[in-house]
Amino acid sequence: MSDDFDTDAYRVAEMTWQEVEAAVERTATLLLPVGSTEQHGHHMPLGVDVFMPEAIGELVAERSPALLAPPIWYGVSPHHTFKPGTFTVSTETFQRYVTDVCASASEWGIERVLLLNGHYLGQDPELEVVVRTLRTDHGVEAFHVPLVNLFAEVAEEIRTGEVSFHASEFETSILLSLLPELVHMDRAKSVEPPDDSLPLTDYDALGDNEVGWSLTAEDMAELTHAGNIGDPTVATAEKGEKLVEAAVSNICRLVDELESEE
Ligand SMILES: [Zn+2]
Repeated sequence: MSDDFDTDAYRVAEMTWQEVEAAVERTATLLLPVGSTEQHGHHMPLGVDVFMPEAIGELVAERSPALLAPPIWYGVSPHHTFKPGTFTVSTETFQRYVTDVCASASEWGIERVLLLNGHYLGQDPELEVVVRTLRTDHGVEAFHVPLVNLFAEVAEEIRTGEVSFHASEFETSILLSLLPELVHMDRAKSVEPPDDSLPLTDYDALGDNEVGWSLTAEDMAELTHAGNIGDPTVATAEKGEKLVEAAVSNICRLVDELESEE
């Protein structure tokens, strides 16, 4: 094997198969950003849920031996189809597709996959099933890694807005820190959800969501004209940096532990 391969390379799509062959001698861990292409209000583009886990995966891969897979761009977003540009696939299609992608990587040496989920509170149940299927039917040690859970503690400390549910304080801050050129703060609008949510449910990403529930596209259309729910005007790049750092360091801890099991 030639030793002039770039041993720091981690983006699978930019590597040759020989470089990947050499890389899986060093690591059996794959980071797979899983997002959705869906509306994010007046001020952010449709790719936010992919841009976030991809950039966070990149920061993890820079600090760890893990490889970074090309992302899953299409997710389960029926509740966002009230705005153009949103794509959605069925739960069954999504589960099969993500499972097949991960299982195929196990054919060339990947033993562990971290599903970096950038679609807040969406497609969580689907990815839990994917994780179980990968482990039981394919022998792949899979993890569902919802970004929102990884920075929840820091988010509670730094938030200044009362509500951040969709395309608001947290997501806008993260994108301001990662890809500021894609954020139009001059178009950001605060959208207050009604305060009469049902008991144990809350219109907030870190809210009192003790029971499973979901919104339809009709519900969303009624709740928000702009598309976001919450106040994106309080978002800052500084807040975003802290949220990103929390997510990255938490994922690195998991990768390090998995890699040291070898
Ligand atoms: Zn989003």
